[in-house]
Amino acid sequence: MGVRVALSSGFCEGVRRAFALAEKALLEGNPVFFLGELIHNRDAMAMLCAKGARVVSCVEDIPCGAVAITRSHGIPKDLAENLSARGVRVVDATCPKVKRVQVLAKQLEGEGYKIVILGERSHPEIQALLSYLHGEVTVVSEKSEWQRILQKGSSPVAVLAQTTFPGAIFREFADWAQDNALSWVHLVPTLCGETEARQRELEKHIAENPEDIVVVVGGKHSANTRSLFVLAQRKGSLVFWVENVEELKSLQFPSNRSFFVVSGTSTPDSIVAEVAAYLRQRV
Ligand code: SF4
Repeated sequence: MGVRVALSSGFCEGVRRAFALAEKALLEGNPVFFLGELIHNRDAMAMLCAKGARVVSCVEDIPCGAVAITRSHGIPKDLAENLSARGVRVVDATCPKVKRVQVLAKQLEGEGYKIVILGERSHPEIQALLSYLHGEVTVVSEKSEWQRILQKGSSPVAVLAQTTFPGAIFREFADWAQDNALSWVHLVPTLCGETEARQRELEKHIAENPEDIVVVVGGKHSANTRSLFVLAQRKGSLVFWVENVEELKSLQFPSNRSFFVVSGTSTPDSIVAEVAAYLRQRV
């Protein structure tokens, strides 16, 4: 019996960077504001707010001279410009992987490609990306849509994906484009492997240790945390989803079982460590 923590757990690279930038701005003594939650995790937000950060819902609530930290998804160009025009210092915490998609899309558009994005139009990352492009841009998320748009054509099309677009659907698109020999379609790999890596590690662990109890740690409104929970459920594991160690303390577990701890990409490493330490006392 024991407790194992997934190798890929705690903050992902992009969230870690956003958190560190916010901490740095706070340490410098600035009034720090977030337009909406910087990180989809109540504990992470509580840590930053305890140091003085404030969450607001509109630009007008951020005073001149303050610092606004952008989310790792990025923010639309006009919003950043609006903040700067109001005398707010914008700290760009856009994840480098998200930034890369913005840069590539802009570059390809400049080279004459029509841009197609695999993603969700309403997602903040896509909203920010669209704001940097000027030409005709289409966002598609399923086969019927890309078939309708790309089946016929001759002018060059560049297809990029939202960094967190499901890998399985991305691969379905790649296979379809290859099978149909769409020579005018240039597919650019822009997925972030982070969420898929966590799912693969969990899947492998369950296959090798089907009796282990899975503890998923992360915000209840975090989509990638939910995917881990649903995956463990689908694989037949006994699985618990907690936001922090306090929530864990109220739960009852069967005795004589080992635990596997996984987390979403916006869960602080310290919360994962607390959960693991508590479980180690119990086994
Ligand atoms: S999941 Fe990937 S793309 Fe998104 S913030 Fe984390 S590292 Fe960046």
